[in-house]
Amino acid sequence: QDSEENEMGYYRIGTHLRLRPSARPALALHADAETSTLRVDLKHAEGGPPRSHDDQMVFHFDSIIQSTSQEATFNECARDIVEDVLCGYNGTILAYGQSGSGKTFAMSGDSKNALHKGVIPRAIHRIFADKFARPESETSIHVSYLEVYNEVIYDLLTDKKEPLRAVSMMEENGQIEMKGLQQFLCETEEDALKHFVHGERRRCIGTNTFHKFSNRSHCMFTIYVERHSKGRDHPDRTAAKLNLVDLAGCERFKCIDAARQSEKEVLNINKSLTFLEQAVSELRKGQAHVSFRQSRLTMLLRDALGGNSKTVLIVCALQEDEFLDETISALRFAQRVK
Ligand code: ADP
Ligand code: MG
Repeated sequence: QDSEENEMGYYRIGTHLRLRPSARPALALHADAETSTLRVDLKHAEGGPPRSHDDQMVFHFDSIIQSTSQEATFNECARDIVEDVLCGYNGTILAYGQSGSGKTFAMSGDSKNALHKGVIPRAIHRIFADKFARPESETSIHVSYLEVYNEVIYDLLTDKKEPLRAVSMMEENGQIEMKGLQQFLCETEEDALKHFVHGERRRCIGTNTFHKFSNRSHCMFTIYVERHSKGRDHPDRTAAKLNLVDLAGCERFKCIDAARQSEKEVLNINKSLTFLEQAVSELRKGQAHVSFRQSRLTMLLRDALGGNSKTVLIVCALQEDEFLDETISALRFAQRVK
């Protein structure tokens, strides 16, 4: 029943697990890439409350990626959704996990190493390859890049000489309109990459330097694909967008150095991730009323999660013993939204 399409569209979320390679993975974690199953054996877990010897949890995913390979990650987690966007379905890819687990590595990649390009530049490449492979249709591609910090949305594609500008959100005829979020028309892959790199540099500006190293904001790069087929018999128009989201770190309050983080910030992050989970579970259950209005993040993702669209969650996790609690909490999040 999960994989069926109801009148609201697809509501099954694909879940993938990406484990950051580690020289000393916890003995409690047993990943089986073949069956895409992760078993957690708590009898091997160190520290924490005493646990019974048969404490075992099993988590299923659509795929588990343990290597550094960015190509494998794109192929497993993103390729299908990108292909669907080219066919007119909206798509969303969310990277979820604690700070340091590899969300930015997965979505953006490592700018210093071309082999380590993340999902965003690979998606851009695929979409432009398709545009040039279909001269019979006219494809226009726009991009935007925003950051949600403390429940305020900022446009990351403003000029670097300008301070970041807050974008206001309005609801018109049931559609969310962003007043002031720029969408740039891109003729080539290079155009789109240029905007992406510009936005990357502007992330987390306006917060103090500590924030550079943690991730207290959600960032969303969106690619809008609009296509007119020139076929004389049945001229056709499709429009779809792909949201690529690097979510804020999901670590819980106790793990955060309180001196460096304002409480409001942390509360906003925890709340928005909880509201995301809540909205997704309501959608899954086919509830008529879905609470999207509770945070900026869920409002931004409303049409992406609810309508004619597909969503993939990439859970990024650390394998070392000291992060076991956070890793289990991220695994549980994936289990609940699935
Ligand atoms: P996050 O965005 O979740 O806070 P990052 O993506 O910044 O985490 O990753 C933290 C560090 O780990 C970075 O230096 C990154 O290059 C490295 N890293 C993350 N995931 C991987 C991976 N799968 N393979 C190799 N290095 C990784
Ligand atoms: Mg990051």
